[in-house]
Amino acid sequence: MPNRNEDVCPEPDLAPELGTKPFAPPIFPASVYACESTAQAESLLGGELDGYVYQRDRHPNAEMLAEKCRKLHQADRAMVAASGMSAMAIALLSQVAAGDHLVVSRCLYGQSLRLLTQEAARLGIDCTLVDACDLVAIRDAFTERTRLVVVETIANPTLRVANLAALADAAHANGALLLVDNTFATPIVCRPLELGADLVLESMSKMMNGHSDVMLGLLCGNDACWERVPVVASAWGLASSPFDCWLASRGIMTLHLRMAKANANAAHIAEFLAECPQVQRVEYPGLPSHPDHELAKQQFSEGFGSMVTFHLQGGRAAADRLIAAGSIPFCPSLGEVSTTLSHPESTSHRGLSARERETLGIHGGTIRLSVGVESANSIVDALKSSLAAT
Ligand SMILES: *Cc1c(COP(=O)(O)O)cnc(C)c1O
Repeated sequence: MPNRNEDVCPEPDLAPELGTKPFAPPIFPASVYACESTAQAESLLGGELDGYVYQRDRHPNAEMLAEKCRKLHQADRAMVAASGMSAMAIALLSQVAAGDHLVVSRCLYGQSLRLLTQEAARLGIDCTLVDACDLVAIRDAFTERTRLVVVETIANPTLRVANLAALADAAHANGALLLVDNTFATPIVCRPLELGADLVLESMSKMMNGHSDVMLGLLCGNDACWERVPVVASAWGLASSPFDCWLASRGIMTLHLRMAKANANAAHIAEFLAECPQVQRVEYPGLPSHPDHELAKQQFSEGFGSMVTFHLQGGRAAADRLIAAGSIPFCPSLGEVSTTLSHPESTSHRGLSARERETLGIHGGTIRLSVGVESANSIVDALKSSLAAT
């Protein structure tokens, strides 16, 4: 009789007394925790007593991971959400309301732009799109209703670098907050809160986890703007999964090693590509030819990131041949252990008109590399054979 209730119900009391501490973190998949009494339930749910009740509100794996991230960013607060987009949604919904105005970088990740323009507009929140590197245009964009400025530390795919300290000053002078998407940089390369930002978010699906097997987001921020963050995350149902948090806790243990190697590889690859006859131009903040090189030197530590963008002489046809050569996997994401490439025109920026792409510096021959942690020589070899095919 396998379906008798006592055979299938959970039995937390059967968990062995350990006596020693597990050196690796356990997974806590429980969706709910048993309360001892009505009084305990009331004080847990009322927040007077610290503890877990329901996974959507909080769970140990998310908190263990958030604490590691909080330290990396030197933040007052940190929370892990279901994805980078969930973290963006929490930032938006916790800080602004109908009638408020946003100042948003035109170069944001595609879905972030959609959320902050089209989706936000449906909720009565309007926005002005700006060039995040043009401080004059940004100051002009402020209105009395501006509550939030949103930029990326390193923008996709031209890898332009935003002046975060100047943006924070401009935002604060106008009574707004600065939210920075730091996905391309990671806290190893840049810590926006130290530069004056109020909130920082990252897609942990990328470098932070680093193993292409997790979907998670991170939001960190100051005490002053945190009050509504847990409320929004719970009410809109944007919480993370314990298993993904557990995996990302493993991934993040090697973040500093992976980023150190990937940064060094990227610098080497950028220099190599700059000398290749098939390549028209290379964009990498670590190259003196990059328009934001001096700013990047001030703002970044331990390298200039693992992303390198280059433009092929032969346009789209050359890009198609390079991808068909297959030496580097074409994965429209980033931050993997191995080197991958993306083609913005056919993926992240396909929704834009040719003219809009032109303004952003994207052509048919634009390739965005996410440099991994292999030996630099093996990446150079893969690039040589890919470029020979163009
Ligand atoms: C991937 C990405 C996001 C969205 O993160 P998800 O985890 O995919 O939801 C946001 N911003 C940037 C810069 C990204 O690369």
